Parts: sequence; C-alpha cells; structure tokens
Amino acid sequence: MQSSYITSAQRAHQLPDLGAPEIAMVGRSNCGKSSLLNALTGRRNLARASSTPGRTQMVNFFAIDRPDGRIILADLPGYGFSASGREARRHWQELVSAYLKRPTLKQVLFLIDIRRADPPGDEDLELLNSLAAGRAAVLPVLTKADKYSASAAKVQMRKFIDHLEAIGLAVPGVAVTSVLKQTGIADLRRDLGLGD
Ligand code: GDP
Repeated sequence: MQSSYITSAQRAHQLPDLGAPEIAMVGRSNCGKSSLLNALTGRRNLARASSTPGRTQMVNFFAIDRPDGRIILADLPGYGFSASGREARRHWQELVSAYLKRPTLKQVLFLIDIRRADPPGDEDLELLNSLAAGRAAVLPVLTKADKYSASAAKVQMRKFIDHLEAIGLAVPGVAVTSVLKQTGIADLRRDLGLGD
C-alpha cells in the first residue's frame, strides 16, 4: 500500500476534483485524527506533514494507492470552538458543508475521544445529525480506547450508541480504536477497503 499527501484546500472553491472514491475523517480538535490517519496509512508522519501552524483549518487530501485502485483519505479540519471563535466556526462550517456535498464521498469516519462519548457534546451530535442526512455512510470511531479496560470500553460504546438512538440516529456499527495499542486498526483498515 502506497500513501502520499496530495493537496490541501482552505476554501470551498479550492476543493480539488480527484476522481477517486473518498473517505473523510472528521472530529473535534485533539480527538486523535492525525494519529489515526497515520495509523491507517501506516505512515508515522503523513498527517503532520501538511499541518504546519496556521494551516489547520483546511481539508488535507491523501491518496492510498492499492492494486485495485486509488482511495482518497480527506482529513477535515477539527472543530470545538469557544464562544470567541465565531469567525473560525463560520469558516469551518462553510468549508465542511461544501466538502460533504462531494459526489465522490463514500464514507465518513466520525471520530470521538472515547472519554467524551458519554454523553457526546452538542456540537458532536449536531454534526452527526447533519452527516446522517448526507449520502455517504457514517461510521463513528471511538478513539483512545486504551484509556479504558476492554470491558469498560465496551460499556462506553454501548452508552454512546444509546445517546445516538435517543435522538433517532441509527448507525450500522461503531469502531473502537487505540493507536497506542493498535486496537481496532487492522479491522478498520479492512472494513474501509484499505487492505492489510
Ligand atoms: P488531532 O488534533 O485530532 O489530529 O489529534 P492528534 O492525533 O494530534 O492527537 C491528540 C493527542 O491525543 C496527542 O497527544 C496524541 O498522542 C493523543 N492520542 C491520539 N491517539 C491516541 C490513542 O489511541 N491513545 C492515547 N492514549 N492517546 C492518543
């Protein structure tokens, strides 16, 4: 499996036409998105390579080249804005909502720190709701599972699903990962068609 950084878009009109199916990763800042992207691509510093300071509110595109074709991984900007971050929030919303309309988008990974899964925040639920209204499949990923024992992580997952069901959100499954312990990484890579 070959993976490489392609480009970044800071504005909706800069979103490139890449002609390959896309998997997007989205989550609150610090949820472990860069770490998971590196783990999925097997490249220690792929995500970091493009995230120089001041360039964080961008969509970063990576290509994964497999014998059966190319898959694009799109790293969406993190969210979690304080009351003072109104302009940042507006920019994020504009960019992300334009991105989510792309017909090449097949799958969205919604990442959430497992410690924040019970209960999820309003911003998380709002985003999940709007993702569910789109065409792409949505898979929540509970990250940093090593913060709990295996059985406690399962309880967190169940409670998270209960919170989603309480607001009428049904998901086909929830992935639980730890890059520290490599939990769930191989399974997720296989489920996404990224190979072994
Ligand atoms: P991003 O802001 O969403 O891209 O998050 P990062 O990937 O930069 O991770 C944020 C912090 O969480 C860093 O200190 C990581 O080392 C840590 N982190 C990420 N994944 C894991 C994990 O699976 N387990 C633990 N314990 N820490 C993690």
